[in-house]
Amino acid sequence: MRTRILVVEDNEFSREMLCDWLELQGYEADSATCLAEAFRAIENARPAAVLLDIQLGAEDGLRVATWLRNEQKLRHTPVIAVTAHAMVTQQERIMRAGCNACISKPVDFDSLKEQLNRWLRVAAVVEADSKCSRVTLESAIGLKERSL
Ligand code: MN
Repeated sequence: MRTRILVVEDNEFSREMLCDWLELQGYEADSATCLAEAFRAIENARPAAVLLDIQLGAEDGLRVATWLRNEQKLRHTPVIAVTAHAMVTQQERIMRAGCNACISKPVDFDSLKEQLNRWLRVAAVVEADSKCSRVTLESAIGLKERSL
């Protein structure tokens, strides 16, 4: 079974480009264009990671990250923000909302691949560890140094 990645992006061109790229990388791409679709997609089939556009028309895409971080079963899901806002203030807001990384548009696919691989590995460590003890994502980042 392929690893499912959810793309939340309101722009059709960007959404299709990200989904096509994911499929070429061997992932299964799921997509959503707004918050309601994103929540529905996550509830239907838990994604291994989420690529999240911050500006979904009038909606704040970061609500997806906040929601995931507050759901016990979903809280370690990697969220990579894909955004046109590369400003420092936006970066802070993005990271504070619980995103693991922030990639600015136009997307550098090498960076995206690196971040996606990195956070999927971290999530796998957290998943494995949480079976014996409760660890936080922060401590898993420390674990990464010796285990990945
Ligand atoms: Mn957008």
